[in-house]
Amino acid sequence: MRVLVINAGSSSVKYQVIEVGSETSVHSGVVESVDYEQALFEVLERIGDPSTIDVVGHRVVHGGERFVEPTLINQEVETHIQELSLLAPLHNPANLAGIRAARSALPGVPQVAVFDTAFHQSIPVEASTVAIPEALAREYGIRKYGFHGTSHRYVSRVASELLGGDPAAHRIISVHLGNGSSIAAIKGGKSLDTSMGFTPLQGLVMGTRAGDIDPSIVGHLTRHAGLSVDEVDDVLNKHSGLLALSGSSDFRTITERASAGDKQALLAVDVWAWRIRHYIGGYLALLGGLDALVFTGGIGENSALGRTKATEGLAFLGIELDEYLNKRPSSVARAVSPGASATTVMVIPTNEELEIARQSADLIGSAR
Ligand code: ADP
Repeated sequence: MRVLVINAGSSSVKYQVIEVGSETSVHSGVVESVDYEQALFEVLERIGDPSTIDVVGHRVVHGGERFVEPTLINQEVETHIQELSLLAPLHNPANLAGIRAARSALPGVPQVAVFDTAFHQSIPVEASTVAIPEALAREYGIRKYGFHGTSHRYVSRVASELLGGDPAAHRIISVHLGNGSSIAAIKGGKSLDTSMGFTPLQGLVMGTRAGDIDPSIVGHLTRHAGLSVDEVDDVLNKHSGLLALSGSSDFRTITERASAGDKQALLAVDVWAWRIRHYIGGYLALLGGLDALVFTGGIGENSALGRTKATEGLAFLGIELDEYLNKRPSSVARAVSPGASATTVMVIPTNEELEIARQSADLIGSAR
């Protein structure tokens, strides 16, 4: 089965055609555009023969409480995705525009939505509940949703295969470090907790996002810095994190500067790593032990220094890196810890497109 995977963002449409049986990527690319109809026609032109596409799989960021599974898109599902734009104003409208453009470009081809939040719907109520008055939480849908679910699910499955044995017994911490970053505690293949929350702003220090802060900082800045609520939102999402600390949001640039002794860059990496270690420690306590610690995302997959900093001082918990394995460049799923350590530290390249293709094909296959 051939799946066209569409990831429609605010300024570009990423696409990939994946042959699911053989798990091969037949076409892939990016169309930079904000006109989604035109972008989709461009994609189809590049692909050549659109009649080879059996199903279109869309990445949709926010599925709210309703969408816990890959879902065949119809009018009602579209309306619901639109309503969820309130919770993901930066993402869901673009995802929806991609869905509409794909439907008009490929009429009659089934369209499936795969949600970034879906994998985290298994987190228990004590982890998802936000401690504010219940009426407010209910009325405004305030709870932990979690994001990057497709990636956490994909890499934790690969980790489970590498570990061998019974996947139901595996305790895994998956650390996705890219421009956006999150960490997830996964028990028996199910998400138990994750660092992103109501929006992708919570948790780790990211490229331009602050991650966890004292929420009273928002009120303080609106009262005393002359910023509107929208401006504070913008500061925390687009002008904070590594960018604010070092002047660059690009981890490669930051580590080059840090290696050259730049104090700001060194501090930025230390602040970034401190938060990751804080979460790893917390999730170890929630999981009651750890079989695999998995690094993924652009930084997690490629930066030996990033992995070293993120695991510094954790040997007493059974988390150690083998220096040679950690530094050896590679693009395949691999262990980077010494053979004898209690926890296997792994680097697993994520593949959200393949995961979306598999889930879309499964849904259509089972419906036929
Ligand atoms: P996104 O979240 O946008 O998908 P990626 O997962 O591609 O982002 O991660 C982008 C980040 O990965 C950037 O900060 C980039 O500098 C970093 N990165 C990519 N390659 C390397 C590398 N070889 N060494 C260090 N950092 C890297």
